[in-house]
Amino acid sequence: MSAILNTYNRKKISFLKGKGSFLHATNGKKYLDFVQGIAVNCLGHANNYLNKAIIKQSKKVWHVSNVFTIPEQEKLAKRLKQRTFADYVSFQNSGAEATEAAIKFARRYFYTKGQAKKNRILCIKNSFHGRTIATIYASGSKKMTEGFSPKVDGFDHFKFGDHKQLEKSITKRTAAIMIETIMGEGGIKVIPEYCLKGLRKLCNKKNILLILDEVQCGIGRTGKFMAFEHAKIKPDIVPIAKGIGGGFPVGAVLVNKKVASGMKPGTHGSTFGGNPLAMSVGNAVLDVIFKKGFLIEVYKKGKYFQKELKKIQEKFPNIIKEVRGKGLLIGLVLHKNQTNFINKLIDHKLLTVRAAENVVRLLPPLNVTKQEINLALKIINNVCENYK
Ligand SMILES: *Cc1c(COP(=O)(O)O)cnc(C)c1O
Repeated sequence: MSAILNTYNRKKISFLKGKGSFLHATNGKKYLDFVQGIAVNCLGHANNYLNKAIIKQSKKVWHVSNVFTIPEQEKLAKRLKQRTFADYVSFQNSGAEATEAAIKFARRYFYTKGQAKKNRILCIKNSFHGRTIATIYASGSKKMTEGFSPKVDGFDHFKFGDHKQLEKSITKRTAAIMIETIMGEGGIKVIPEYCLKGLRKLCNKKNILLILDEVQCGIGRTGKFMAFEHAKIKPDIVPIAKGIGGGFPVGAVLVNKKVASGMKPGTHGSTFGGNPLAMSVGNAVLDVIFKKGFLIEVYKKGKYFQKELKKIQEKFPNIIKEVRGKGLLIGLVLHKNQTNFINKLIDHKLLTVRAAENVVRLLPPLNVTKQEINLALKIINNVCENYK
């Protein structure tokens, strides 16, 4: 019997080692891994360049407190600043910590402006922002909050796509609208670009901060460094995590000058956040992702993968209802519960992961090859052919 607390439905597969898009399991089989730690290992398993970076740093210094200046952190923050809307970056260790810090920063901004009551955050119902006591209430999901009362107050919700409800939910007390640019756990639901543009305008008009949670869709996943870049807008606060560490736990919050003005020494902190080991990998990830042409390739590969998946969907419209996503953040929406389908894919040595709304998520590493995509397509087609 496992001594691990029972909070996951775990598959019985374990892995010995990985390389790139593949994982070698203890059962002797080799799997094509299109989970990649749920969009975490953005450059695949055991990437040589990342390995070198972390080994090199590990021989110098692992950890120092944030009461000292950490050069690797300064470097990563500067690069994120240069590449995005951000003027400042705050490092955390995970997605939930990053979104929770984002909530703090938004509230604190209005507090310092003498508007302490402007402190509510408006979110999409059944979204996902992490599993801390505050972020589960941000999700507006019954399933995630059941049994964890008392409710953490301060969050309001509107239904995905319901513009009327969104406008009606805004009050004088709304400090920020926080949404995932593309809803990951919620079923790879893309917020259309015109909606993101509209949201930005709405927030400007009503003096509301726009928080875009890019923990899953950021860091090159969609073929742009940040997913909101497709809509050509600038948010105020962006939590990131997953991909930025390439497999090492790293989280961060990007903020503009305005939001930064609310924070001062002592208002937030983290023991581990931005430690030299984490930062060395973060910098190495950016070395690769920022290479000329890398993101264009991600976009092209995503387009190809989705086009070919749509052909399979047309062949099997009774199994696959829809193919959706952006870049290499892809969801196959099935008509029925996806568990059996995912298990069949595993039997054929392709690893995928579920999301809400009967979605099978396909999250290859960003440096996946066309051959590997073709292999996945072949497996998905085979499973469809024999699916009852
Ligand atoms: C995964 C995820 C989180 C939470 O990240 P953790 O590192 O698991 O805490 C938050 N927001 C989004 C959009 C995510 O996909």
